[in-house]
Amino acid sequence: MMQNYKRVLLKLSGEALAGEKKTGFDEATCIEVANQVKSLVEEGIEVGIVIGGGNFWRGRTSETIDRTKADQIGMLATVMNCIYVSEIFRFVGMQTEILTPFACGSMTKLFSKDLANESFAAKKIVFFAGGIGNPYFSTDTAIALRAIEMEADVIMLAKSIDGVYDSDPKTNPNAKKYDEITIDEVLDKKLAVMDLTATVMCLENKMPMLVFSLNEKNSIIHTLQGKFTGTK
Ligand code: UDP
Repeated sequence: MMQNYKRVLLKLSGEALAGEKKTGFDEATCIEVANQVKSLVEEGIEVGIVIGGGNFWRGRTSETIDRTKADQIGMLATVMNCIYVSEIFRFVGMQTEILTPFACGSMTKLFSKDLANESFAAKKIVFFAGGIGNPYFSTDTAIALRAIEMEADVIMLAKSIDGVYDSDPKTNPNAKKYDEITIDEVLDKKLAVMDLTATVMCLENKMPMLVFSLNEKNSIIHTLQGKFTGTK
């Protein structure tokens, strides 16, 4: 039995798509994700997807080129990721639409809330590619904005770590994982869940969030089945 969600937005990091390789795409990982999303769709849940760009490029890490231009490359990296994952989703039998906040010719369609709603109504998985279309933002901000704008029930944050901890478990073996935490507390304690802009947007608009690891088998399905072991 799936929980009572009608529309969810799922965030996949770019690195998660790359699997062990850390860069580019790992096809098996993407097919695995696609099959899990397909189970959600078969339960009648509308799924929107936002994908990061870290498997190709990160704007803020360049010390040589202008930040705005570096961020443009980052946004295009997220479009490439969405085109790839959309095709994998089609390969396993789903229908998809890729929407971007800027024109990409025949490669994507221009985002609007109405078009996104029409696509969901047509049983398509909607990819929100290209971030929010502006530099100095991130795909965290993009998923926060689109989840709020599209009136999603919840944001599902698939990470390489299995929840929110009070300190970094990679460096602190005694780090404690939260089952549940308020966004106020996340901000107070400066816990790195999403970036600040995205976190504040979720706080202001009361957008719930489920943080879990993509590395655990069937974690996307479990998240909505009451077998959730991440952090709400
Ligand atoms: N990006 C941007 N505006 C957006 C979304 C993304 O400029 O609205 C760029 C930015 O350069 C970022 C890159 O795209 O570094 C990849 O996005 P992601 O959110 O994966 O970045 P991360 O936070 O992992 O660096």
